[in-house]
Amino acid sequence: MSTNTHATHGTILASGEIKDWIIERGTEMLRNGTSAADVAEQVARDVEDDADDHSVGFSGLPNCLGMVECDASFMDGATLNAGAVGALVDFRHPISVARAVMQRTLHILLVGDGAARFAREIKAEPRTMLTPTAEAIWWERLQALGIDQDALNILRGGGAIQNSPAQIQGAIDLANQCLNFRKGSDTMNVIVRDATGHIVSAVTTSGIAWKYPSRLGDSPIIGAGNYADNRFGAAACMGLGELTIRHGSSLRAVMALQLGQSLATAGQSTMLDLWHMQKRLGGATVWHNQSADPWIRMLLMDANGNCGAYSTAKENLTYKVQRTNEAAPTQFDAWSVHN
Ligand code: ASP
Repeated sequence: MSTNTHATHGTILASGEIKDWIIERGTEMLRNGTSAADVAEQVARDVEDDADDHSVGFSGLPNCLGMVECDASFMDGATLNAGAVGALVDFRHPISVARAVMQRTLHILLVGDGAARFAREIKAEPRTMLTPTAEAIWWERLQALGIDQDALNILRGGGAIQNSPAQIQGAIDLANQCLNFRKGSDTMNVIVRDATGHIVSAVTTSGIAWKYPSRLGDSPIIGAGNYADNRFGAAACMGLGELTIRHGSSLRAVMALQLGQSLATAGQSTMLDLWHMQKRLGGATVWHNQSADPWIRMLLMDANGNCGAYSTAKENLTYKVQRTNEAAPTQFDAWSVHN
C-alpha cells in the first residue's frame, strides 16, 4: 500500500535519461518555494536545450523528410487544465508553448502551422532545431535505402520516385522503410509534486524519428501520454505512442489509483493490460521486420508523492526521483512485464 512517508516533501519524478543537474536544479527551485508548474516547465526546458539528447527539442531527430517536429504537453493536476502542441517546428521550447496554450487559449491542443502561428504570437523564441549531428544520423538511414539528394527533393516536393532500390515511391514508403530500423525512442517526462500536494506533469519529445510528416504520438495527447490529477496522482509515458493512444494508458493508470489500487498494482496492471492489448494487435504493432518489440515505459506518482515506473520493455529502463530533503536524484530500474 502507498504511504504518506513522502507527502510532506516536494518530489521530482523524471525519466532516467534526464541529467542529474537538471533534476537537482528543479529540486532546488521547489525548496525555494517555486510552484510545481514552474519547476516542471523549467526541467522540461533544460531537457529541450540538451544537444546530447536526440529525442527531444534541440538536436532531436527529424521526420522522414528531415524536419524536426516537436510535441509537448503540460497538465495541471489541481485544475485538470492542460495544454499541448504537436508537430511544432523550430521553436526552442515546445513545453512553454504547450503551457501557454493552456494559459492563453480555450483549447488544449494546437498542431502544425497553427501551433507555429500561436508560438509566434506569444513571442516564443524561434530556434533551428535540426543540428548537423542529428541531420547526419537521419541522412545515413536515407542513404542506406538508396535515397540521394535528388530523390529527397522529389519527395519533399510531393512527387514520386521511380525505380528506387528500396521501392520507395513516396513519403509513405520512406517513413515505413525508415521505421523498419527503429530500435527505440525516448520522450522526456517529468512529474513534479510540491509539498502541498500540487502535481504537474510535463512531457516533451521530437517524437519517433523518421516518422511520417505531422505524425503525432501520445506525448501531446492528454490521457494517453500524460495525465495528472492532484486527488489521485499522475502518469506520463514514453515509447511507441501508437500503443498508448489506443490504450489511454496515462488516464488508465491514474484511474486505477482513483479506484484504490496501490501505486505498484496500478502501474503493473496498466502495463500488463497494455501488453495484452499489444499481443491482440499482433502484426499491427510490430512494425515491419523490427527485431525489437515496441515498448512503453510509464512514470507513475500517487497523490502522496510515492513514485515508480513500469514498462513492457525487455531491457532495463530507468527513472529518477529526487525529494526536497535529498541532495541528489536516485536512479531506479522500472518494473517490467518481463521480470
Ligand atoms: N512516445 C513518443 C511518441 O510516440 C516517442 C518517444 O517516447 O520517443 O512520439
